[in-house]
Amino acid sequence: AVQSRVAAVTGANKGIGLAIVRQLALQYPSSPFKSGPFLIYLTARSPERGAEAVETLNNDAQLKQAKVLAQDGGDTTIKYHALDIGDQKSIHAFIHVLKQEHPEGIDFAINNAGVALDGFDSTIVKNTLATNYYGTLEASNAFLPLIRNSGRLVNVSSTAGRLNKYSDEIRNAFLSASKTSVPAVTAIMQQFHTAVDDGREKEAGFPSAAYAVSKSGETAFTKVLAMEEAKRNRGVLVNACCPGYVNTDMTKGRGRKTPDQGAMTPVMLALHDIGGKFGEFWMGEEVTEW
Ligand code: NDP
Repeated sequence: AVQSRVAAVTGANKGIGLAIVRQLALQYPSSPFKSGPFLIYLTARSPERGAEAVETLNNDAQLKQAKVLAQDGGDTTIKYHALDIGDQKSIHAFIHVLKQEHPEGIDFAINNAGVALDGFDSTIVKNTLATNYYGTLEASNAFLPLIRNSGRLVNVSSTAGRLNKYSDEIRNAFLSASKTSVPAVTAIMQQFHTAVDDGREKEAGFPSAAYAVSKSGETAFTKVLAMEEAKRNRGVLVNACCPGYVNTDMTKGRGRKTPDQGAMTPVMLALHDIGGKFGEFWMGEEVTEW
């Protein structure tokens, strides 16, 4: 029987997430994974924004022209499902549906949802870490067991999380934690939060930037999960990437790339041959320094 393929994308109602769904649909026919029907779960925390995004893609000129959607004779179906990665119940409700509907597993999970909040104080740090670090971690841990052999987990992190903005001590702590365990990475996030509460994050070797630290944490835990997954010998490749500087609501019109250009590296890490690489940080479709 022809195997069908299943993908899930978080924060997919707009920006890079929406473009990732579009590019998954466009690139699936030329992917080595191509095999029968393809179901993409476009997930979003708002049902209205999610349904609207599905509608937008079902009427997308590029998708229509390429005839990739099932409604136009292609293989791909795009379906909305609710998912707020900041809410454990929402994550586990979605996982429950995936298990029920796809007992054979899913092929690709792309954690794209993220926030960049204005300002800097303890509450900003708490809310930023809640989504970009803890939410993405919870979603990664929930998706991984569902991903079948040879599948992919892709985390959309950022070069903002590069290690060049820390003291040597913190930089080394990140490098070491990324080769050790998730709790070791989480401990650095807690150390940052405590230092911010005490007004001494600079003395502690951190930048006064919640987004950057959350993304360093995301890249670090992704490396740990990639290494742990590799030990299971299932051929599941886990990677982190930066989409580049992309014009979306997050960058308030300042980004240089289009969302579709920003989707290229994440989609490559899901659908295409990446030479078996895992636990790397990618940008511009290449492995780059973290
Ligand atoms: P946008 O702000 O345009 O989109 C962010 C998406 O994430 C929205 O769909 C938003 O949903 C969703 N989201 C936020 N919080 C949650 C949550 N708790 N649960 C589910 N979804 C959520 O940003 P971009 O498209 O630019 O960013 C996408 C990813 O790329 C992010 O992880 C970002 O950090 C990363 N990135 C972006 C860069 C850029 O230049 N744009 C550069 C480097 C990295 P809603 O509409 O409901 O708010």
